[in-house]
Amino acid sequence: MNHDPNCVFCKIVAGSIPSRKVYEDDELLAFHDIAPWAPVHFLIIPKQHIMSLADVRIEHQSMLGKMLWLAQDLAPKQGARNGFRTIINTGSDGGQEVGHLHLHVIGGPRPWAKG
Ligand code: AMP
Ligand code: ZN
Repeated sequence: MNHDPNCVFCKIVAGSIPSRKVYEDDELLAFHDIAPWAPVHFLIIPKQHIMSLADVRIEHQSMLGKMLWLAQDLAPKQGARNGFRTIINTGSDGGQEVGHLHLHVIGGPRPWAKG
């Protein structure tokens, strides 16, 4: 599996940086964001190192679909019972800070710190 030893999210996948896990399978990992904007804020990532949405290939389509399926499955279980936002920041103009593809799932009662 593609892995970047300098990538913070690859380190979370490997367990060398701790995280509060929400979900894990062979392909995907979900964990709470360390600086949440809202009562519910977790990230869904592929376990393999893909830099961003600009780097996916056609063979990633089922994994990408599963990320969205998982977002709606986990959001209410995590407390987002009245809807949620899903965000993928891509590249520097897209505001991406961590260079490992991730889907933000944000929800819970408002007001939120951001968004
Ligand atoms: P983005 O701006 O889309 O790249 O978002 C990166 C997100 O990763 C931010 O919301 C950070 O708070 C979050 N983040 C960075 N490092 C960690 C970490 N070690 N554990 C959990 N979330 C993190
Ligand atoms: Zn990575």
